[in-house]
Amino acid sequence: MAELRKDYFLDRWVLIAPKRGKRPHEIEQKELHHEGVCSFCPGNESMTPREIGRIPQNGGWAVRWFPNPFAALVPEGNAAPRTDNRFFTFAGGFGHQEVIAETPRHDKQLADLSEGEIAQVLEVYARRIVELEKKERIAYVSVFKNHGFQAGTSIVHSHSQVWAMGVIPRDVQEKLRASAKFLRCPYCAVIDVESVGARRCFENADFIAFTPYASRFNYEVWVLPRQHVSRFEQLNVKSLAAILKKVLVRVGNLDYNLTVTYAPKGRDLHVHLELLPRVALWGGFELGTGVIVNAVSPEDAARFYRGEL
Ligand SMILES: [Zn+2]
Ligand SMILES: [Zn+2]
Repeated sequence: MAELRKDYFLDRWVLIAPKRGKRPHEIEQKELHHEGVCSFCPGNESMTPREIGRIPQNGGWAVRWFPNPFAALVPEGNAAPRTDNRFFTFAGGFGHQEVIAETPRHDKQLADLSEGEIAQVLEVYARRIVELEKKERIAYVSVFKNHGFQAGTSIVHSHSQVWAMGVIPRDVQEKLRASAKFLRCPYCAVIDVESVGARRCFENADFIAFTPYASRFNYEVWVLPRQHVSRFEQLNVKSLAAILKKVLVRVGNLDYNLTVTYAPKGRDLHVHLELLPRVALWGGFELGTGVIVNAVSPEDAARFYRGEL
């Protein structure tokens, strides 16, 4: 049973999610490969847990989602953190975990899909956020994508993940708190600055993509709605798909994580997507100090995205 644990006295949480019987070198998500057969492919639907939903297409499906068979978070136990003594604060691994197979095609990645197909995937993101938030004791629904081994997945079939949690995670809390200190949304103000600066990558009627001033990752790029929108399901997914496709095509073969941040129920936070290529590994300096060394300037990264490099 997984458990959320807080550092002795720092506001830093860890999900302890043991996989039984695994020696250190075996801890890796190989379980979804059954002797070379892909359980995410059409025809193998019986190999995944019971389907939650699908976008139908030609008698089959275009996008399909189901519970993560190796979920660390389960909808039982205590979601509320408690403290046993001064130093041991913990909560149950409460929540729901789902997998979204983004395409029936084993040989296509998200970047290879058409804008219309990417829009369907984003529509499913919105639907899962709204649905899972309605469930009992769910405080936040994290949607993200791991692409490639360096980004934490060995599953080739293009997919995203959804983790619904009983707590608002620390980074979202920090963004809520920091934003609330400003009279006007600071993301809106940043967009004003970055839309005319050296870090601007792409723009369309509804969205802007730019490389953030203090990028942590080589070629890190953010995508935000130009108007203040706090909820993912309020976004124009067609327009978002169009700008995301441009970014993904430039990212090419790099491994990356894609994260989605929005305002939890009843809160306010400018929606943003972060695409984080996983080129460089963090070393001792990063881990010992929290200061990240990025060998690619965000200004050069923006030139790369604009096709000038
Ligand atoms: Zn497949
Ligand atoms: Zn805003």
